[in-house]
Amino acid sequence: MYLIPIPAFADNYLWLLHNGRRALVVDPGDAEPVFRFLTQHALQLESILVTHHHADHTGGVDALRQACSANVYGPAAERMPQPYTPLRNGDTAHALGMNFQALDVPGHTAGHIAFYTRACQIDGTSKPLLFCGDTLFSGGCGRLFEGSPAQMLASLEKLAALPGDTLVCCAHEYTLSNLRFALAVEPDNADLAAYYAYCMRLREKGVPTLPTTIAQELLINPFLRTRQATIMAAARRFDASAHDNSAVFAAIRQWKNEFQ
Ligand code: ZN
Ligand code: FE
Repeated sequence: MYLIPIPAFADNYLWLLHNGRRALVVDPGDAEPVFRFLTQHALQLESILVTHHHADHTGGVDALRQACSANVYGPAAERMPQPYTPLRNGDTAHALGMNFQALDVPGHTAGHIAFYTRACQIDGTSKPLLFCGDTLFSGGCGRLFEGSPAQMLASLEKLAALPGDTLVCCAHEYTLSNLRFALAVEPDNADLAAYYAYCMRLREKGVPTLPTTIAQELLINPFLRTRQATIMAAARRFDASAHDNSAVFAAIRQWKNEFQ
C-alpha cells in the first residue's frame, strides 16, 4: 500500500491509501486535488472514510461519490452527505481488502470517529494505521467544539493505548505551532526539543510532519501526558484549581486556546 497526504486548503491533509490500482481517501474536504491524484496515478476510488461532519472534511464527498461510485463510511451520530454507511464504535469499514475499525472519539465533535487497522503493508512492513481526523494532532489535539474535556481526554486515552508503532494520520498540519505551545508547557522535555528541531527541518523543505506515531506522541504531546508531574505542575500554574486528571487536561486545553 502507498500512504499519501494530499494537501488541501491552508493546512488540511486528505489521506489517500492505494495499492496501485484502487484507492481510499479519508475526509475529502475538497474533491479537486483527489481527482487530480487519481487521474495522475490511474487509480480507481473505491471508498471514502469520513471522521466527522465539518465542511473541510466532507466538502468533496458528493462529487467523489458520484464520479467514482465510491462507498462512503462515516459516523452514525453525525449529519453526513447522503447516502453513506453509518458506523458505530466497533463497526468495520471494508476497503482495499482491509478492515478498518471505527472507534468513537467524541470531543472535537459529538459523534467523531477514527478508523483503525491493525496491519497495513507499507514500505515492506506491516504497520498499524490510524486515521484520527481532528481528534489527535502531532503535539496537540482538536478544539472542543461539541464535547467536554473529560470526553476528549477519554478519546485521546483510547488512541494512546494503541500500539506504539501505529502510524497516526491527522487531518491538519498544525505540528509546529502545537510544538511551540508544548515547549511552553514542558521547556525541559529533551525529546520535545529534538522533535521540534526535526519538524522545523521538514517544514523548511515543505515535507509533511505526518504521519506521526503513538510512541512519538507519548513523548512529546502535552495532551497525552496529563499524568506527568511536569504537566500537572504547569497546568496548576495556569489554573490553581486543576486537581484531577480531567481538570489538568481542561487547563492545558484552555491555555492552548489562549496561547499566541
Ligand atoms: Zn473539524
Ligand atoms: Fe478540520
